Amino acid sequence: MTERKIALITGGSRGIGLACALELAKAGCDIIINDICDAEKAQPALDEIKACGVNSSFYQFDVSNDEQVQAAVDAMIKEHGKIDILLNNAGITKDGLFLRMDMEQWERVIKINLTSAYCVTHAVIKHMSKARQGSIINMSSIVGRHGNAGQANYSASKAGLIGFTQTLAKEFGSRNIRVNAVCPGFIQTAMTAELPNIDEYLKAIPMKRLGTPEDIAKVVKFLALDTEYVTGQAIEVAGGLMI
Ligand code: NAD
Repeated sequence: MTERKIALITGGSRGIGLACALELAKAGCDIIINDICDAEKAQPALDEIKACGVNSSFYQFDVSNDEQVQAAVDAMIKEHGKIDILLNNAGITKDGLFLRMDMEQWERVIKINLTSAYCVTHAVIKHMSKARQGSIINMSSIVGRHGNAGQANYSASKAGLIGFTQTLAKEFGSRNIRVNAVCPGFIQTAMTAELPNIDEYLKAIPMKRLGTPEDIAKVVKFLALDTEYVTGQAIEVAGGLMI
């Protein structure tokens, strides 16, 4: 029997993160989910993942708190011995037109969406380096490529993740660690539930529908498990939006 791969998914208790966890679980990976929410809130996600017949555990921590991240990753390595796949997925929005955007709004989004990738990846990649294998996927966004009015903070954080992805792909390719980004368009989750003018967005999407978390999860699974020679890429999964 081949040893199971272990995947760590940040912000994995719901939305896109949970869909990715389930897709990887169905492919036979053991899953560690992280979230900032408490264990009780994450329990339904854990139950759903375990129903796929794999092991799953939950670690509560704030992805942007370096000390919490380090302690949690140490504990994961003690528990599982390794991490093969890292999905940096946790993210937030704090939208507003730039002239009205204050420093708190700017710094919070950069910290949770971008600095977090430094914290979690820094803690995990040294173990992947030792194992001389790994796949890291950063959840960017189509707005990190093309911008979006009202999202200067968010689009800067997501563009930052693409540069981060390309640089780590160059630094770690020789150690058989691949680093890619996924750039979702408009996906039906809690994050987009409040979007005004949804019909306007639909007009701009050639496929005439919002994406589902599962649409993203299929691409994450491809990058994590199905390819061994794709690295440094930022793949748009957006139903043709922006082409
Ligand atoms: P979501 O709000 O449903 O899920 C985000 C998860 O991250 C939540 O469970 C939340 O509790 C967790 N989280 C937030 N801050 C955290 C922190 N400090 N530490 C740990 N966990 C934290 O959102 P989603 O739509 O599933 O988005 C997932 C990712 O996909 C995000 O990075 C988002 O920016 C990105 N994305 C989403 C869309 C979309 O249309 N929904 C489009 C492009 C990119």
